Amino acid sequence: MGKYLIIFFLTFLLSALLVSCREDVSLNSPDGLVVILKADDLGEVDANWSRFIQKLIDDSICAGIGVISNNVSNVAITEIQRINNIKQKNGYPVVEFWNHGFDHKDLKPHDEQTEFFNTNFNYQHAHFNLAQHFFTDSLHITSHTFGAPHNRTQLITEKVIEKFSEINVWQNYGKTEKYSHTDWKDPKYNVIHDTDQRIILSIDYLSLHNLNIGDIEKNYAIDSKKPYIVIQIHPAAWNDEIFQKFETIVQFYKQSHRATFMTPNQYYQFLHKKVNVADN
Ligand SMILES: [Zn+2]
Repeated sequence: MGKYLIIFFLTFLLSALLVSCREDVSLNSPDGLVVILKADDLGEVDANWSRFIQKLIDDSICAGIGVISNNVSNVAITEIQRINNIKQKNGYPVVEFWNHGFDHKDLKPHDEQTEFFNTNFNYQHAHFNLAQHFFTDSLHITSHTFGAPHNRTQLITEKVIEKFSEINVWQNYGKTEKYSHTDWKDPKYNVIHDTDQRIILSIDYLSLHNLNIGDIEKNYAIDSKKPYIVIQIHPAAWNDEIFQKFETIVQFYKQSHRATFMTPNQYYQFLHKKVNVADN
């Protein structure tokens, strides 16, 4: 009897130890705020996109760029492949290209029906698949991140995305959704464990009007308590003035507040294992 009690006790002790070890390695909280730039709607790599990407390089920061696969020409394919090889000092790409839908079409006016909203499972699956295949077959890049056109999705979209095991990150805007996610954890509200296959990142600045630094400064006290923020931008529509404002915002985070810029999948990797994020 005594022997069984000892075995029982040892088993209990061992499992308790294993659980606590796992908790320890999973809590990879960054030391400061992580800023993730979500730059949408790349098709052609025109002058504005080239200027934006050069700015990322010059400022030693990085961004995720959402690609609309159907809008990418052969010339742009070569350019995207070239840009994909430009690395930060830590080895991660300066630009993470990600799946922003296959054609980004509004099927009915006023966003009543978009690529991943009010369409059926087969339609969404086909479009998701076309975009993922464009990435692997034409760009020779694997997209690990998704963001729906207009950030509009529905519950079935979750089931569609889960068919693609390579997707680690989903960027969304919670206020437009009328359902709750079950298998996706947001690091703003949940501890991410090494065993969590997917994360969801919620957008903080959806349409930062003309990139007004005042809004960023005003919200910093709240933002700095979050593990990360996502800023959605559309560089293709910027003029000189907005490029200048973007630079002010970058310096606000980087120089004044020592924030770390990461791409979505880089942040995922950071949460899942200790990776070097210094000097990006
Ligand atoms: Zn878009």
